[in-house]
Amino acid sequence: MHCVVANWKMNLTSDEARIFCEEFLGRFVPEAGIEAGIAPPFTLLRQVSDLVGTKGVRVFGQNGHAEAKGAFTGEVSMPQLKDAGCSGVLLGHSERRQFFGETDAALAKKIMAAWQWDLLPLLCIGESLEQRDAGQTLAVLGQQLSILAETGPGPLWVAYEPVWAIGTGRRAEAPQVREAHAFIRAEMLRHGADTDVPILYGGSVTPESFPELLAIPEVAGGLVGGASLDPLKFAELIKQAG
Ligand code: PEP
Repeated sequence: MHCVVANWKMNLTSDEARIFCEEFLGRFVPEAGIEAGIAPPFTLLRQVSDLVGTKGVRVFGQNGHAEAKGAFTGEVSMPQLKDAGCSGVLLGHSERRQFFGETDAALAKKIMAAWQWDLLPLLCIGESLEQRDAGQTLAVLGQQLSILAETGPGPLWVAYEPVWAIGTGRRAEAPQVREAHAFIRAEMLRHGADTDVPILYGGSVTPESFPELLAIPEVAGGLVGGASLDPLKFAELIKQAG
């Protein structure tokens, strides 16, 4: 199975999202073995889910709180994501880790909360440039995946997203992706995960670079930021994954 997920980050208004969905659906052809998803900002979840959710496109929250409700101003819970039409949630995106202090301990709780509310977690992991240069890439990935010892196995997608490749136009080279994905797979198996958990690559993916990445056997698709804001490029990426 191949999966292509758009991460809109903090972009688009409702008018822009409507135009995106119309243009995207004009090109999108659902295919067996391909899972397409969009992670809009919270304000657009219901609208996007009404527009594309019925056409076989998953809708993901970009984050979700571990508690179901309560005094957590500015946060959105897993049941609220579910209520807004989501079937999944991005967790641990590097921007959340870097700018909002997301910790591995919090992520373990969030994964279990997502399962409790029948949401598919898409766990993002990846090393910074400093960590790569210091030869710590695999140790960092191993540490980020160690939360699976606490959560136990369950439905999960993982995205390998080297922080230095996100939004920089500098995509990881094929051997780097191959090494990281093979390591992630081995670690996940060690933690008791199913053999078919999809491992996506994320970091400056474009229609020009995606075919080379998809040719790597352990790459089960992409988590795409910048290029996914163009409906035609996003539809093209999904077609390439088919
Ligand atoms: C992302 O936001 O997860 C991402 C990979 O962004 P970009 O494609 O812009 O690098």
